[in-house]
Amino acid sequence: MRAPQRFPPYGLTYFSDEAQGFARLWLFDGGEILIPGSFDYVVANSVSDAVSLLQQHGDEAKILAGGQSLIPLLRFRLAAPSVLVDINRIADLEYIQETDNTLHIGALTREATLDESPLIRTRYPILLDTSSMVADPVVRNWATVGGNIAHADPANDHPATMLALGAQLVAIGPEGGRIIPIDEFFTDSTFETTLHTNEVLTEIRIPAPTEKSGGAYCKLERKVGDYAIAGVAAYVTLDGDGRINYAGMGLTNVGPVPIKARDAEQYLLGKTLDDASIHQAADLAAAAAQPSSDTRGPAEYKRAMVRTLAVRALRKASARARGGE
Ligand SMILES: Cc1cc2nc3c(=O)[nH]c(=O)nc-3n(C[C@H](O)[C@H](O)[C@H](O)COP(=O)(O)OP(=O)(O)OC[C@H]3O[C@@H](n4cnc5c(N)ncnc54)[C@H](O)[C@@H]3O)c2cc1C
Repeated sequence: MRAPQRFPPYGLTYFSDEAQGFARLWLFDGGEILIPGSFDYVVANSVSDAVSLLQQHGDEAKILAGGQSLIPLLRFRLAAPSVLVDINRIADLEYIQETDNTLHIGALTREATLDESPLIRTRYPILLDTSSMVADPVVRNWATVGGNIAHADPANDHPATMLALGAQLVAIGPEGGRIIPIDEFFTDSTFETTLHTNEVLTEIRIPAPTEKSGGAYCKLERKVGDYAIAGVAAYVTLDGDGRINYAGMGLTNVGPVPIKARDAEQYLLGKTLDDASIHQAADLAAAAAQPSSDTRGPAEYKRAMVRTLAVRALRKASARARGGE
């Protein structure tokens, strides 16, 4: 781990975490301004416009959404695209709608919009748990749900929740649109997805809740607004006898990529949620974590926190599935 460098006007500190092979930015006070390298800036007014600009500029281009991850990367010269394709003026990428038993979230929807949506507040509390824990209100005014997922940072909060919910992503490229199941979106490499460089992530689709379904996202952070020490998302649907017929669990910041806790999910199928099954699933979730020791704590502490957070998330999911909080 390299010593932190401080840059006060922007409140950022950069650590290079060689153990995990990726870089992380943290808030901090003190230091000097860092200026990005030069790049061309182009505005896309529609999705097709964005796709043709991406195609025109190839691997050298990057989409600019809320800029809350990309701009810090440019400042620290961890990314150096020669063209930024700004999609912020594509108004029809900002929406939250429930139709055909599916929640549709436009990729450019801001975290703050998700936070304030009555539909999300009443029907999708796991999404409110998640968006309300992302950074702070200022960041959430800019940060987009699509950007949070497309950035594929294992420390970002939405990937775990989307893995738990079994979301599908809509990508549009030169050949048209395609649907990518969330568990095929992240690769084994940090910050990498199966999105092609000439594709735009346009929509996130989430199955609408059934009568007996519930989910929760629990996150442990060093202080409000920080990235997770660890986070766990859990989502269950129950049959008429109270047995689980769908279980989804995702883990945040305990490995090089967002983790789907498949053994825990598999174990829960057909079970009722009681203390024994919850603890057994939490043990399996903890076993799926691949944490490394860093400034957020030793690996074993993080694994223990996954266990604890998994118990909390499953209990909350169970209560919500039964109509309570
Ligand atoms: C101080 C601070 C604290 C933070 N704390 C947290 C936290 O606690 N939890 C958390 O989850 N996140 C946190 N973040 C990160 C942040 O919320 C998200 O990673 C970020 O907002 C990504 O969304 P964006 O719209 O800003 O994307 P951008 O920064 O604009 O883009 C990020 C990446 O995604 C790509 N991209 C964006 N949109 C699309 C699209 N539609 N199609 C294809 N590619 C796309 C870009 O090309 C780029 O590579 C924090 C950020 C800051 C600055």
